Amino acid sequence: MPDAHYDYAIIGAGPAGSACANALLLEGASGVALIDRARFPRDKICGDGIGPGVIAILDALKLGHMLDRHRRVSQMVMTSPFGGRMALNDNEIKGESPLGYVIRRTEFDHALVIAALERGCTDMTGWSFEGAKHVDGQWRIDLAESDSGELRSITADVLIGADGATSRVRRLLGQPFNHEKHVSVSMRILARTEPEFPARQELNVEKELPIPGYAWNFATGAGLVNVGFVCDTPTYKASGRHLREILKTYQDQLPDTLVYDDATRHSQILPLASQMPPLAYPKVSAALIGDAASMINPLTGEGIFYGMEAGLLLGRGLARAANTREERAAALQHYERVFRRTFTGHFRGNFYLRKLIEKPALFDRMLRAGAKNPDLCCDCIEYMMGNERGVGKKPLYRLALQTFFS
Ligand SMILES: Cc1cc2nc3c(=O)[nH]c(=O)nc-3n(C[C@H](O)[C@H](O)[C@H](O)COP(=O)(O)OP(=O)(O)OC[C@H]3O[C@@H](n4cnc5c(N)ncnc54)[C@H](O)[C@@H]3O)c2cc1C
Repeated sequence: MPDAHYDYAIIGAGPAGSACANALLLEGASGVALIDRARFPRDKICGDGIGPGVIAILDALKLGHMLDRHRRVSQMVMTSPFGGRMALNDNEIKGESPLGYVIRRTEFDHALVIAALERGCTDMTGWSFEGAKHVDGQWRIDLAESDSGELRSITADVLIGADGATSRVRRLLGQPFNHEKHVSVSMRILARTEPEFPARQELNVEKELPIPGYAWNFATGAGLVNVGFVCDTPTYKASGRHLREILKTYQDQLPDTLVYDDATRHSQILPLASQMPPLAYPKVSAALIGDAASMINPLTGEGIFYGMEAGLLLGRGLARAANTREERAAALQHYERVFRRTFTGHFRGNFYLRKLIEKPALFDRMLRAGAKNPDLCCDCIEYMMGNERGVGKKPLYRLALQTFFS
């Protein structure tokens, strides 16, 4: 027999699931279960770059204080294999900064989970989602305790899949995984630095690494640097190289003051938003958010902002709907409509930009053009890392003009 009933069962307590839980609770909903096979704090393979769009989401969730202890990124640098370099320093930014933060996911995700628990959601971290059935208008959800394997089941009115890149909920809803053309592969390792680097983000396209693809080193500003490499799956397969060896090639080019922690070297896939499944399933009261719905920017690999935005939008909409099946179905459809209206063009633009800069010579010209104009550079970073609301597509056209005609 199921041992408890909830209005909302959220599978996955990463940024997408936790943002959704916080939004639901902040809007007065109750009966929210936050389920994750991990116990928090837990690590998540990531570049730890918290995009600028996340700041507004945290404010909307009344969690802006989460950033107080962290240093805002003061410089972003991009380099090409032909020596092109575009750098944006915070003292050159006239309006709102398009730079974000670099924060360890152990810390960032844990703070979001704690906030949701303090707001009253039921803590089911340490429980793995094993499967679910929609019977008589509600979900029967099977869970297994992560250590002991103890089984239990609960029921819920709404099932929210926020269980990341290899989502089981997505499969349960009948959605296949992305085609390999729309999946990137990556590996990252963490390093300590003494003296510490300032908080900064650097992205490098290198001759010695598979292209198209890029390596990064992101510094928190508190003595920690996140170092990694990402490229799409066909490029990786064609390279015939191992991710570990590619990453090592990049590590060898970085300052030898970096002391790497080999235990933090892990690989993971990124399902890209150039192929998103349906987001809402109103007939069975279910939805997908975050990586489970392939909400990763196809150019930058950024996914925290989009997942949290989806969680916020869905949580708010559901909490504001009356507790009837019809209203919930309408809220789910509204979520899908608004998310797609806001981001489909943005993801498409970033996908085409990626196609364009897959040519290293063109990427080089683009960086050189951007380097001459900090305002344009600022707008382009907002276009790639943010949500375009502030800048629209104009920076892209301006950059294209300057790349081809300067
Ligand atoms: C190498 C790499 C670098 C990246 N760098 C950046 C970056 O710098 N900036 C950025 O914005 N994005 C980055 N991303 C993308 C970003 O990590 C994801 O988009 C983001 O974590 C998505 O959040 P989420 O909540 O959807 O999923 P996740 O953060 O993956 O959370 C999913 C949760 O579901 C849980 N779960 C999974 N299966 C089950 C199950 N069966 N039962 C219960 N729980 C389950 C997991 O334990 C996990 O806690 C990067 C990704 C990679 C791989």
